[in-house]
Amino acid sequence: MKIALVTGASRGIGLAVADALHAAGLHVIRLARSLRDTSAERRMDISCDVTDPASIDRAISRIDKQLGVPDVLVNNAGIFFIKSLAETSLADFSATLTTNLQSAFVFAHAIVPKMAARGRGHLVTIGSISDYIGFSGSTAYAASKFGLRGMHEVIRQETAKSGVRTTLVSPGPVDTDIWNAVDPDSKPGFTKRKDMMRAEDVAAAVVYAVTQPERVAVTEIRLLPAIYTPRG
Ligand code: NDP
Repeated sequence: MKIALVTGASRGIGLAVADALHAAGLHVIRLARSLRDTSAERRMDISCDVTDPASIDRAISRIDKQLGVPDVLVNNAGIFFIKSLAETSLADFSATLTTNLQSAFVFAHAIVPKMAARGRGHLVTIGSISDYIGFSGSTAYAASKFGLRGMHEVIRQETAKSGVRTTLVSPGPVDTDIWNAVDPDSKPGFTKRKDMMRAEDVAAAVVYAVTQPERVAVTEIRLLPAIYTPRG
């Protein structure tokens, strides 16, 4: 049975991805700060703060001992806020890079070489429309997401002959808690929550990518709401 590890899987896109992969028959490991360590049929939850490499080490050792090397790694955990360059503190910038980008590196660094040694595996990176367009107020977020795009491209090159597949999924706005502080419905120029995609839409894209025949590499998927006006 294939094993999938999803970071940031307590709610939103990560939870939907975990549920969809479970429904597709995989053994799913969910990681997030608010989850408790538990195991059940084809499920394992691990409490993990992805900004803390020691916490990631603990999670990976537990997975190694109990399940072995995951077949699918979904680097999803992320934070988001809108602040101009002048309003963005060094702490804001650093927290965004650590959560969104460094954590993806730490997981990929620990797991992808083992996938390559085994000759198969799939790294899915949850990017964003902000991994290819710069929006006002997204200095930190865009730095992290463009960084993820760069890392995805390099890992794709490095693993191209190993049997490991890599997919970057880049969604536009999705109606999750990540938008609560922004409150887009009250602000002109933002996609309204009713028009946003659903977490399940992103999950369906991930399932599509990881269930293609081994000969097919789905390198990138961009998703946008059907009704969408990009912010400036
Ligand atoms: P949510 O805020 O709904 O969920 C974020 C998830 O990340 C939660 O499970 C949270 O778990 C986890 N997380 C955050 N910080 C940490 C941490 N330090 N350690 C462990 N887990 C953490 O956001 P979304 O589901 O919307 O976002 C998921 C991903 O999708 C992000 O990478 C985001 O950038 C990306 N994305 C989202 C879009 C959107 O419009 N919603 C559009 C494009 C991309 P917990 O708090 O329990 O730790």
